Amino acid sequence: MPFGELQLRLGWDTAMSTWLAAGICGKTRIAELGGVPYLLPLVNKKKVYDLNKIAKEIKLPGAFILGAGAGPFHTLGFNSEFMPVIQTESEHKAPVNGSYFARVNPADGGCQLEKYSSKYRGFGCALLANLFASEGQPGKVIEVKAKRRTGELNFVTCMRQTIENHYGDKPVGMGGTFLVQKGKVKTHIMPAEFSSCPLNCDEDVNKWLHFYEMTAPLVCLPVFVSRDPGFDLRLEHTHLFSHHGEGGHYHYDTTPDSVEYLGYFLPAEFLYRIDQPKETHSFGRD
Ligand SMILES: [Zn+2]
Repeated sequence: MPFGELQLRLGWDTAMSTWLAAGICGKTRIAELGGVPYLLPLVNKKKVYDLNKIAKEIKLPGAFILGAGAGPFHTLGFNSEFMPVIQTESEHKAPVNGSYFARVNPADGGCQLEKYSSKYRGFGCALLANLFASEGQPGKVIEVKAKRRTGELNFVTCMRQTIENHYGDKPVGMGGTFLVQKGKVKTHIMPAEFSSCPLNCDEDVNKWLHFYEMTAPLVCLPVFVSRDPGFDLRLEHTHLFSHHGEGGHYHYDTTPDSVEYLGYFLPAEFLYRIDQPKETHSFGRD
C-alpha cells in the first residue's frame, strides 16, 4: 500500500472534507502526559489535558498529533481508549479533531468505535497519553515492512529493542503510524466505568480490562522510546482504529504465520515529559 493511501486512511477528515496533515515530518517531538498512576490503583479525575495547550507547551503550536491515551471522560462522560489524530490550533489554521475512541459497548460488551467529532467537541484527553507531534509536513520517513512473526515479541517491541541494541545508553524515541494489513491482533479496551475498588497489580488490571481479537486492516498509532532516561516513561504505547468498527490498545498479533505490517516512522528530536506522577508504580504498563 503506498504512503498516499495510508495517509488517506489516517488523515482525511470527511466532515471537514480536508486533509489534517500531509505527513509526519518537521520538528518531531514525543510527549508523555501524566501516567498510569493517575488511572491505577484509583482514578484521579483532576487529570485532564487540552491538546491545543499541550502543542504550545511542546513549543509547536499547530502540531499534528498522533498517539495513544485515555479518552476525555470529562467530555464523553465515560472512560475509553483514545486514538488522537489532531491538527492543533495555530495562528493560521483552526484546529481539527480527527480522533477516534473505543469503548466497551454497554449492550453486548463488544467494541464500539466512534469518531470523536461526530458527537463531541473539544480537544481533550485524560490521565495518560503518549503522543507523537510534528509539523505534519511531507518528507523522508522510515518505511518498515514485516510479515510472518517468528519470535515472541510484538512488532513495536522488536523495533524498540533493535534500536536499544544499536544505540545503547542513548535513548531514541520514535512515532508515526503502521498498518496491520493482514492477520489479527489482541487488544484491550478499558471499561466505561473506572474501578471503584483499588487495582493493585497486573492481575487486578487484567480482570478489569476487556480483551478482544481484532481483524486487519487496522491503523495503528505507535509511540516508543528505546529506554527510559529516568522520567518514568512508558516505553511503548500503541492504539489502533479501523474503518470496520474495531479499535483499542494493541498488545500483539495472534496470527504469526499470516500477519503483515507496513509502517512509517520518524525519530523525535525532543522528548517532553508533562505532569509526571510524583508517586509511581510499575504495573498496568502492558
Ligand atoms: Zn493504551
